[in-house]
Amino acid sequence: MKAIIYEGPQKISVKNVADPQVKSGEVLVKVSYAGICGTDLNIYAGTHPRAKSPLIPGHEFSGITMSDSKRFSKGTRVAAYPLLSCGHCEPCMTGNEHVCDTLGLLGIDCNGAMAEYISVAEEKLIKLPDTMSDKLGAFIEPVAVTVHALRETGFVPGSKVIVFGCGTIGLSTALTLRIFGALEVTMVETDESRVAIAKSMGFDVFNPIGVNMEKFVREQTDGIGFDWVFDCAGVQAVADVLLDVVKVKGRIVIVAAYKKAAVLPLIKGMFKETSFSFTRVYRYKDFDIAAKIMQHEENYEKIITHLLPLDEAQKGFDLLTTPGTGAIKVMYKI
Ligand SMILES: [Zn+2]
Ligand SMILES: [Zn+2]
Repeated sequence: MKAIIYEGPQKISVKNVADPQVKSGEVLVKVSYAGICGTDLNIYAGTHPRAKSPLIPGHEFSGITMSDSKRFSKGTRVAAYPLLSCGHCEPCMTGNEHVCDTLGLLGIDCNGAMAEYISVAEEKLIKLPDTMSDKLGAFIEPVAVTVHALRETGFVPGSKVIVFGCGTIGLSTALTLRIFGALEVTMVETDESRVAIAKSMGFDVFNPIGVNMEKFVREQTDGIGFDWVFDCAGVQAVADVLLDVVKVKGRIVIVAAYKKAAVLPLIKGMFKETSFSFTRVYRYKDFDIAAKIMQHEENYEKIITHLLPLDEAQKGFDLLTTPGTGAIKVMYKI
């Protein structure tokens, strides 16, 4: 089969490799779409701590089952819950498999979906809703991240929210917030093409460059501050202002994966009795909910800005690592 291979830092290729071996309990899936995630960019950069070359990346995908199995007949359209949990550490034993001590992922700790076929444990497969396209099926995974961020932290409907970052996770968080009953969602982004996409989805978006943040927040919230703050950017400039925009007793949720250690003026959090939460990936239930709610919000599809054939593997990574391309979610149509 044809596959994208990570061969080492900054080096990917498209090669013919042997089809995956289907182990007991697994189902062979013919991949329809596979998305490039921020994690895949870390792999490509050579900075992912676990990914070892040669590796087929890809954990966000949809496909079609190639054989009958216990739960699915051949030809079923599916996505996969890509987490690999050990099942016997303390988090796993207490119902928190998604933060397993040795959490692994398809496409990082074993070969993934940027290929014509992938073999997946049957219990990880989720049938796509009949009305969902194969393309959106490959987008359940990022939406599941946002469903988890809201459910795990007990998001309260009716809240005024600010979301930092209009990348895949920021935009998806904002859309999921709307479905979950946020009263108002304000977004912050410096890239003008992303600002435009967020505006087209009906969000208030502002570019913070040269803006006095405290004055802005006063105007937006009658001087109170935002009830909930979602950090989907993960950069120091955002960490600097998180505690300025949140209200007294407000909630800050760090969804972003910070690549560098950030400095926080924690004294401001003390004055406001702010609560900080962090969220990581998703539970199986979040994945299932994501698949269902996505059918009620057509804007999720706008986040998928580019579709490429497998042969243009390099172009996909270039689009996401070069500023100014307008790329948000890039997928391979296989
Ligand atoms: Zn991902
Ligand atoms: Zn575990």
